Amino acid sequence: MNEQSTYTADREAYTQSSLSVVQRTKQFLQRITDRAELNAFITINANRAVISAGESDERFTAGLERPLEGLVVALKDNISMKGLPTTCASRMLEGYTPLYDATVIERLRNAGSVFIGKTNMDEFAMGSSNETSAYGVVRHPLDATRVPGGSSGGSAVAVADGMCHVALGSDTGGSIRQPAAFCGTYGLKPTYGRVSRYGLIAFASSLDQVGLFSLSIPDMEAVFDVVAGYDPMDSTSIEAPSIVSIPTDHPLRVGAMPLSQLTGCEQSILDAYGKYLDALRASGARVVDVAIPHSETWIPTYFILATAEASSNLARFDGVRFGTRVDAADGDITTASRTAGFGTEVKRRIMLGTYVLSSGYSEAYYGKAQMARRLIRDAYVDIFKSVDVLAMPTTPTTAFSLGEKSDPVSMWLSDYFTVSANIAGIPALSIPFGTDSAGLPIGMQLQGAMNSDEMLMSIARGLKI
Ligand code: GLN
Repeated sequence: MNEQSTYTADREAYTQSSLSVVQRTKQFLQRITDRAELNAFITINANRAVISAGESDERFTAGLERPLEGLVVALKDNISMKGLPTTCASRMLEGYTPLYDATVIERLRNAGSVFIGKTNMDEFAMGSSNETSAYGVVRHPLDATRVPGGSSGGSAVAVADGMCHVALGSDTGGSIRQPAAFCGTYGLKPTYGRVSRYGLIAFASSLDQVGLFSLSIPDMEAVFDVVAGYDPMDSTSIEAPSIVSIPTDHPLRVGAMPLSQLTGCEQSILDAYGKYLDALRASGARVVDVAIPHSETWIPTYFILATAEASSNLARFDGVRFGTRVDAADGDITTASRTAGFGTEVKRRIMLGTYVLSSGYSEAYYGKAQMARRLIRDAYVDIFKSVDVLAMPTTPTTAFSLGEKSDPVSMWLSDYFTVSANIAGIPALSIPFGTDSAGLPIGMQLQGAMNSDEMLMSIARGLKI
């Protein structure tokens, strides 16, 4: 792997003039070119990145540096950036260039960040392997025959392989945490509403969150501090969160999932989980077994709600108002455009979502899933009355092989540990924790009550492993 550099270390070097932002940006650009076979990027923003790096250098010279001056960021290609194509890795959005910046981009820009490019992803963020992109698969940085995870696979690879300091992704059911675990980076899905979704192209609006990949917790904290916060442009933005901090009056209480709930886990994951709990105990935490009620409903609930919302959100891409237009001999532009513009997984989700919302079935499926969602959320609220955090693996396996999960349901089941945080709206952090016998990274996950994002990061930072 490339020399990985954290922003925190580089900023020190920028300040001492032992490294310039232009130098660092060019090194990252070189790495992207040298590792083109990983296919991590869809659009590389080389010229503009070098120009903005030059401006950051001038700021350092003048002593006018801003909080994230010279931070080099990669952006998942479903986050809108003015003047740069945004494709969602779909033919449907080919040739589309946004006229405005997403709020997260505006905030990063105002804080001095450099945008290096847009990363590859599963089409419209639907997938767990980065195999559904119209721009080709993304490969795992340590083993090109394996997947990097998805849907934010390009962002995970960009960070893990030294192509940027940090990357932004979106997490609807695990799309940040799962690729972070597979590639060996930190991955944060914030509390729903903490980070603005304005400018994020919607997949399932009640589950989507913009979040972060980083090589270190201090980097993640610095970036979260800038991107999080109320945004009047996002009606689900949280106005004044009461932030949950590490308790000072009692030892940290960690809930551990009992073995019976660790469905489908490889032995290497179970072993790492045991060691992770030991490390928490050694740091003074009290670890107690907590069975999480309704875990058997997580995956069906997620896939009913996510597909229902996706079918509605993606209805706008009709080739007339939005999206690639394909003319049809019979005059049915919409059908022709959608047939040509969307890939197989997206079509599958739209059809499933339309079905669960259809008049004869919506009470049986969508209505039931909404009820299950409430039960899942309430169970979490209850649990966080007796423990401060829950610890669990991020994924049941390490990175699997390209083409290995050809049946959609087996792919969907690999999201078992990640979807419930989105259903409940709570924050969740994936932490790199060792490797399996083949050297593939393993991720452990901390979940906490609403607005405990900062606490999860502090716990991860405090635990010296
Ligand atoms: N893998 C999940 C899915 O396929 C989650 C995707 C995501 O978080 N965007 O829907």
